Amino acid sequence: MVKSINALTYYQTTANSSVSCESLKGEVSADVCIIGAGYTGLSAALELATAGYKVVVLEAEYVGYGASGRNGGQVCTGFSNGQQKIENQLGKTNALKCFTLAEEAKTLLKQRLEKHNINCDLIWGYLHCIPKTHQFDELKAWRDEFEELGVAGLTLLSKDELEQKLGTKIYHGALRESEAGHLHPMNYCLGLARAAIASGAVIYERSRVTDVDTGHAPSARTEQGIVRAKFMVIAGNAYLDRTVKDLYGRVMPVASYIIATEPMGEERAKSLIRDNEAVANTKFIVDYYRRSPDHRMLFGGRASYSGLEPQNLGDYMRPRMTDVFPQLQDVKIDYAWGGHIAITSNRIPDCGRLSPAVYYAHGYSGQGVALSGLYGKLMAEAIRGMAERFDLLAGIKHLPFPGGIARTPILVAAMMYYRIRDALS
Ligand SMILES: Cc1cc2nc3c(=O)[nH]c(=O)nc-3n(C[C@H](O)[C@H](O)[C@H](O)COP(=O)(O)OP(=O)(O)OC[C@H]3O[C@@H](n4cnc5c(N)ncnc54)[C@H](O)[C@@H]3O)c2cc1C
Repeated sequence: MVKSINALTYYQTTANSSVSCESLKGEVSADVCIIGAGYTGLSAALELATAGYKVVVLEAEYVGYGASGRNGGQVCTGFSNGQQKIENQLGKTNALKCFTLAEEAKTLLKQRLEKHNINCDLIWGYLHCIPKTHQFDELKAWRDEFEELGVAGLTLLSKDELEQKLGTKIYHGALRESEAGHLHPMNYCLGLARAAIASGAVIYERSRVTDVDTGHAPSARTEQGIVRAKFMVIAGNAYLDRTVKDLYGRVMPVASYIIATEPMGEERAKSLIRDNEAVANTKFIVDYYRRSPDHRMLFGGRASYSGLEPQNLGDYMRPRMTDVFPQLQDVKIDYAWGGHIAITSNRIPDCGRLSPAVYYAHGYSGQGVALSGLYGKLMAEAIRGMAERFDLLAGIKHLPFPGGIARTPILVAAMMYYRIRDALS
């Protein structure tokens, strides 16, 4: 029985390399201290170390412990909540610049995989599937919006066309993207870490920051050491908790869960997702799934704001998968795990400065595999004195979440609302 959200993941057992770093002991000085060894922190570390900065990364557990080592691996286009909310705040021209940055996130990912020889099974192709017939007009509008924004390779699929590709009859059509896809998240993360280390960054694992000074001369204290730096990058995302109190209310951790079935053989796996695309439905509480190279189904979904863990993650997730693929009733589940997604109130990532020397980026709201690399790079650019692109994104305003005892109940109620809305739509 797989009980814990932190249970061994399929990605850990299929990691193609390892990174092993000491923990911080004593006092260290650096140009930049980075908190968190996920994609955001490692991306900033790679950029800054390559540019000649002395970079120290402090990671509470191990590289990829957070969302970056345990996510669905889906490489998405744009921002989680579409363009309209950004346009409402920044106007059409600047919103288009933001979208262009989000497109750059995918290009950056591709370039880094090639440049640093990171093998993480990147596959292009993504199906956004609609659960109801009447949503086809929404898909068309989505396609039109993306085309207007310059996204190429979009195809609308009818129910019949989709059923040629997917072994399920529950959807009524899909939008296929050829420039979105999926990858092995842990191998991508480990590859970034290796590249950052090769460029001169020093990573300390099992070095949880317990106390930070986010002023003009930042420092980060762990149980056994302290880093003093000219600049700081805070990249703890949903796992930061209350370490930096000014960031606590800006994101909310939401649990999401994934199961990996036993290997099913190529033919059976192909009968589920013929062309090996990433797949997601268009519900607010999204199902996201894909095949693995060893022919398993990796099926993710559900969401919990309450902080309470299901008794048995495998049993909890299986019905979600068999609702889509009833033919998988007999298939064994080999792995089940979960992780925390950081969402913002408007589901657009949040970035900014806590002082002229301290930068943060977080809250990709379930769409951070590609975006987080870009935000890390933009923080590095800003530290290097080129802040224009970072400042564009930092100009997006976010309402904080409620603090105190109201925090969890309000979000559980919000989630209930979206569940009902999904069911009725
Ligand atoms: C189950 C799940 C499925 C997801 N699926 C997808 C998907 O399919 N597609 C997609 O685009 N996005 C997905 N996401 C979101 C995506 O994984 C994240 O947006 C992305 O990984 C964020 O990277 P990050 O580096 O900002 O944060 P993280 O990867 O969470 O890294 C933060 C790191 O900071 C460390 N840390 C925190 N506090 C401290 C401290 N005090 N001291 C030292 N270190 C600290 C943590 O240990 C952690 O390693 C998913 C997330 C989850 C949890």
